[in-house]
Amino acid sequence: MRWIRIFDTTLRDGEQTPGVNLSGEEKLRIAKQLSKLGVDVIEAGFPATSKGELNAVKKIAENVHGPVIAALARAVKRDIDAACEALEPAERKRIHTFIATSPVHMKHKLRKSPQEVKRAAVDAVEYAKNFVDEVEFSFEDATRSDRDFLVEVGEAVIEAGATVLNVPDTVGYATPEEFADLIRYLRENLRMKHVELSVHCHDDLGLAVANSLAAAMAGADQIEVTVNGIGERAGNAALEEVVMAIDTRRDFYKMKTGINLREIARTSWLVSIYTGIEVPPNKAVVGANAFTHESGIHQDGVLKERSTYEIMNPEKIGFQTKIVLGKHSGRHALRERLRELGYEMDEERLNRIFEAFKELTEKKKVVTDLDLLALMEGGLRKDDKTGIEMVQISHGLAVVSVRYRNRSITIHSFNGPVDAIYQGINSLMGVNAKLVDYRLYGVTEGRDALGEAIVRIRMGDGIHTGRGISTDVLEASLLAYVNAINKARRNGNGFDSSGEDYS
Ligand code: MN
Repeated sequence: MRWIRIFDTTLRDGEQTPGVNLSGEEKLRIAKQLSKLGVDVIEAGFPATSKGELNAVKKIAENVHGPVIAALARAVKRDIDAACEALEPAERKRIHTFIATSPVHMKHKLRKSPQEVKRAAVDAVEYAKNFVDEVEFSFEDATRSDRDFLVEVGEAVIEAGATVLNVPDTVGYATPEEFADLIRYLRENLRMKHVELSVHCHDDLGLAVANSLAAAMAGADQIEVTVNGIGERAGNAALEEVVMAIDTRRDFYKMKTGINLREIARTSWLVSIYTGIEVPPNKAVVGANAFTHESGIHQDGVLKERSTYEIMNPEKIGFQTKIVLGKHSGRHALRERLRELGYEMDEERLNRIFEAFKELTEKKKVVTDLDLLALMEGGLRKDDKTGIEMVQISHGLAVVSVRYRNRSITIHSFNGPVDAIYQGINSLMGVNAKLVDYRLYGVTEGRDALGEAIVRIRMGDGIHTGRGISTDVLEASLLAYVNAINKARRNGNGFDSSGEDYS
């Protein structure tokens, strides 16, 4: 069995998904979960892009242990300096520097000759090597580059100290056979055999996972992925698909990864709520329908013997929603279950969570792990100073009274109760936020399920995402809106040490 390293770039390439803007706090939360998931490398961000981004990477470097923490840098000193500063506190660190090697990029984007590009690559790797042992070098747009030029630049950067050579299919152009052939070519022609080869595939033609797996078969050691396959344009190779293909078909691939499979469902869910990007129902491995059997023949088969129509066990990737707690559960039971889910807390925090938990059990008979996650991840946090006091709808007119920090207002709207709530909150919070996108969906199952609202608002010159969770969809809508406004007020990337953003 060969070991395949999983390099997760959810927080860098995934964060480049159109419309996604994670706060530093949210990035840290996801990074901690990626560490539990057992990825080998977390690419935490691109520190040169802003002070907020640099601080977010630094927080991850300080607080996340286990995986190597990587930061992206163009092949220029300024970027490498920013990456170094951000990675300084990390136990294990890697600078990931890149420059484009394809004729079209060199000519039109960089306006550099191939020899100038090679020089810049070598200089960048040498410079990075002054600060860290692990340097990854990427040939941007490798699949449209000249193969012999890749070998030439590759050998030069390995000599300069690069430990990993990454071959990105930046524009999602490659096919599996062709991409495997490129990896084999590099393996055979690079004089230095010890270098680790990595691949980074985009899904423009729906081939990112297939290309990554073909490359691994051809000798790549590391696969770069994102959770739920999010990322630039059509996204990146999906972590859960790559990992489950390797696991389910180990008879064929003869490879393994260090991923803790039971954390897959939970990681997917967390990334989805933080980014506001829903997982499509038909998505492989983590989609809501991935283990749902509709046809009578299939249902009959699965009931008789699961393996007739299921090649993976949903429980193996953490999909059970075990009934664990209810109205009569005490603080001790709650604390134990939260500990199993990875949350440690002091008495005071536990008391507050217990209050919210009790309130939830008034509305829901059973509280599942997913409900607890929702509770812990903030979407349910509210106080009695904020809420909806009254809703009336008649003849198309919605009349709603909302309260924010003990002040109330009543709004009439012909555009429905959600519009009325948002007008009221704008007025009470003294802002002029504009709703850009509004979505509502069920988090958990059953008649008393939790509903989640995800909103995007325009405030100032930015777009901000907020989410709210409640058994009442109007309350979820209100919480999401207040959350988005609070995030906008904290300037998107600032840290809110209190963690209480739902007041
Ligand atoms: Mn990319």
